[in-house]
Amino acid sequence: MPLRNHRARPLPTHVVRLKIWQAVGFIVLVCCSLISLAIWGSWNSLQYQLREKEVALSNLAQTLSSQVQATIKQADTVLLWLAAEVEAEGMKTQHAPHLQGLLHTQVDQLKQLKALIIIGEDGRPLLSSVADMPANVNYADRDYFIHHREHADTAPYIGHSIRSRSSGVWVMTVTRRINHPDGRFAGVVLASIALEHFLSLYRSIDVGSNGAISLIAADATMLVRRPFVEADIGKSIASGPLFTELLPKAPFGTGTVRSVVDGVERLASYRRVDDYPLVIFVAVDRHESLASWRKEAAFSAALTVFLLLMLGALGYRQVRLIRRQNSVQGELLLAQEQLLDMNLALRSQALEDGLTGLANRRLLDQFLQDELGRAKRDHLVVGLLMIDIDHFKHFNDTYGHLLGDECLKAIGALIKDNIRRPGDLASRYGGEEFAVVLPGTDLTGAFVVAEQIRQAVAEVAIHGENRSPIRVTVSIGVSALRPLQDDTPEMLIQAADQALYAAKEHGRNRTVMAS
Ligand code: GH3
Ligand code: MG
Ligand code: MG
Repeated sequence: MPLRNHRARPLPTHVVRLKIWQAVGFIVLVCCSLISLAIWGSWNSLQYQLREKEVALSNLAQTLSSQVQATIKQADTVLLWLAAEVEAEGMKTQHAPHLQGLLHTQVDQLKQLKALIIIGEDGRPLLSSVADMPANVNYADRDYFIHHREHADTAPYIGHSIRSRSSGVWVMTVTRRINHPDGRFAGVVLASIALEHFLSLYRSIDVGSNGAISLIAADATMLVRRPFVEADIGKSIASGPLFTELLPKAPFGTGTVRSVVDGVERLASYRRVDDYPLVIFVAVDRHESLASWRKEAAFSAALTVFLLLMLGALGYRQVRLIRRQNSVQGELLLAQEQLLDMNLALRSQALEDGLTGLANRRLLDQFLQDELGRAKRDHLVVGLLMIDIDHFKHFNDTYGHLLGDECLKAIGALIKDNIRRPGDLASRYGGEEFAVVLPGTDLTGAFVVAEQIRQAVAEVAIHGENRSPIRVTVSIGVSALRPLQDDTPEMLIQAADQALYAAKEHGRNRTVMAS
């Protein structure tokens, strides 16, 4: 019996797929967790750093606002006292040296004061702490002068930053109005504070290379700004986010803004200065201030990518391992299957007649033994046909052994075709003799089957090469037995053999039942 056609049979594909999907799914899950963790960590760290920066900026704004307030308060206190003095005493000539002395003392005492000037109602300086005051100076066109002349209130006025007419340096002015005893405008007392006083402090504060600190008037005019650019002083930033977004919401706070001065996006904190119409504004470059966070995030991203690559490699290895394992398993199963097939082939070779494909003598003996045993238990009958080809020696001698073999095969096939019950067994008994076991078939039934076989053989011709068809006949002996306990297969065979002998005796090509 030839080996079956084999195909490599690995594990069921759905099992392998499931295993691979499980491995891939697990790795994807770990990768996703890792990415989420890295993103979450970086986002958290960003929020934390932004919050820290906001707190630091807010504290700074608070401190600077206090510094501005204290600086102006001191100057304003001097002005308040000076205005009161002038109003009480008037600008009498005999009083002037005393006042002049006081101006000098105050300017010496308060470092932030650049100058103290008493300006008359016509705009000309009456008294000044400035020693080399240019002649013909007039302040009537200055905004503070115009303001006081036109406003009767005696509140201090903080003017826009200007370049001093007396010294040429950039100053901020704090002024108060002086009245005649009848309340008419009598002039202005002025304290100028050098912008450098603020700038030197602002420069000493670390707000990064792109940070900014500004002191702004409540009307949105820039008074001082670090970095100091002359063109920025006096500029209005009313359209900027500080005045359009932040200040309308609260008098102090923090936020991210894009500067209208230089276009840089900054993290900023601002605060209105107590008592004075001023706003302090501190800001750091958002991009610059997050440099350390970016470094940290880049490191975290690199580490994550590295871990992802490792996981990917591990996953790839795992999937390959599963595939390999499966193919090895498949090979093992194939080998096992081949062994089983070979075993089956060997077994059937041991029980099958090589020429005709019918059962061989060994299987016949075993089968008869079993069927007789069963028939004894169930009180059944067993029929047997012994079939012998007539004058087969002559056939061989005439047509040759090869054609003799073909004839044996053809008759074997005819016998098989004429037994129809699944329990029947056709076998080659030996040489040109066949035996057919018909379990459950009595003598008459067996005779019918025998006759069918005989007639079928008689009707069929054997075709040799370049020959006319050759007719062959068989003689058949039939026996049947309802076996008793001591009965043996040999008894059944012997009876059929005797009947076969009788068939030969009576002229062949016939069936004889055992008597
Ligand atoms: P009878 O009608 O009396 O049976 O005559 P017979 O010639 O058939 O009887 P005999 O027993 O004298 O001859 C049997 C012959 O069958 C002998 C042998 O040449 C032939 N034979 C037996 N086995 C085989 C075989 O496997 N192949 C072939 N070609 N011939 C075989
Ligand atoms: Mg014979
Ligand atoms: Mg014969």
